[in-house]
Amino acid sequence: MIDQAKANLLGFTRGELESFIKNLGEKPFRANQIFSWIHQKGCLDFNLMTDLSSSLREKLNSVATIQPPMVEDIISSPDGTLKYLIKLDSGSFVEMVRIPEKRRITLCVSSQAGCALQCSFCATGAQGLERSLTTDEIIGQLWLANFHDASLTSITNVVFMGMGEPLQNTKNVTQSIEVFLDQRAYGLSKRRITLSTSGIVPEINRLGNLVDVSLAISLHAPNNTLRDELVPINKKYPLEQLIPALQNFLKNKSSRSSITVEYVMLDGINDSLEHAKELVKLLAQLRCKVNLIPFNSFEGNPHKRSAKDAIDRFKNYLASKQYITTIRTTRGDEVDGACGQLSGHLLNAIKGKHRKIKIQEI
Ligand code: SAH
Ligand code: SF4
Repeated sequence: MIDQAKANLLGFTRGELESFIKNLGEKPFRANQIFSWIHQKGCLDFNLMTDLSSSLREKLNSVATIQPPMVEDIISSPDGTLKYLIKLDSGSFVEMVRIPEKRRITLCVSSQAGCALQCSFCATGAQGLERSLTTDEIIGQLWLANFHDASLTSITNVVFMGMGEPLQNTKNVTQSIEVFLDQRAYGLSKRRITLSTSGIVPEINRLGNLVDVSLAISLHAPNNTLRDELVPINKKYPLEQLIPALQNFLKNKSSRSSITVEYVMLDGINDSLEHAKELVKLLAQLRCKVNLIPFNSFEGNPHKRSAKDAIDRFKNYLASKQYITTIRTTRGDEVDGACGQLSGHLLNAIKGKHRKIKIQEI
């Protein structure tokens, strides 16, 4: 249980930690030491921070804590993917997924418990929004992935593609990214952090001034009529606002940077050659690469994954028009850890498990 009366330093940026330490009457450089104890050495106990004076350690013990969220369960997939079910202090659950690949280890993090945006093909959307995560809950995910099990190699890449819409929790997400990038914390490079959004235009416009990361847009349709259906936030921020916002995001970046366009492949819905042609026209003025995501089905959802032929045809057309196009390999499918499956069966199973425990207690 997190002690609400104490400040949870896991969620502090280095600047915030400096102010906190100054307010305790200590020299600001102490913040650097504490920061690297937490984020580089994985230390949660002030008493073990041996380069701090004992009086400072005592003070910290009385006013602060370092508390990651709880790991409720870890499920491993034969392909090496680990899916963590994380229990927040409020009782909500979120999930994160660790995906080892040849040259990188990616962590897919959640920014909210549930999501309010109700995209028609997404399990998290079907669940509705419980609440946005705090900075300690977001940073806590990377902390857990690096330090929860000392035998695992550290994370090299972070993608905000778990539960929730990061740009409906911009402040906490960008502060967490600041810590991910900080050389005295995780020191990830900006090219290795990707924020995926369904297209909250005013927040995309602000994002470039807040933090320097890569941006992925969940486009999924080449016109407003279809996108209104699949990604309902499009009714509020239609393509004629979204595309300029994305162009604007790239304006002050290097000419090598581009937007990743995510496009879920839904059988008979958005996967025809005509859709591909329309997409090429829509993207003509945007520096981007395209990532096709075979739809991951989940119980109760009527959509079907496009046939392999349809996905290949779509890809080949885009490639013939010089778009770098990749097909996302489905990882962690066996544990419902693939995109958009977060919050599915596993959560129900776990809830069932709790019920069982309660019955036993009675
Ligand atoms: N809310 C953000 C980030 C989380 S979703 C967003 O929408 O971009 C991460 C990615 O998974 C998005 O591109 C989303 O559209 C996609 N996704 C959601 N449900 C999916 C499903 N069932 N199958 C495949 N991709 C899905
Ligand atoms: Fe929310 Fe993203 Fe799912 Fe849409 S796809 S409901 S924005 S988590």
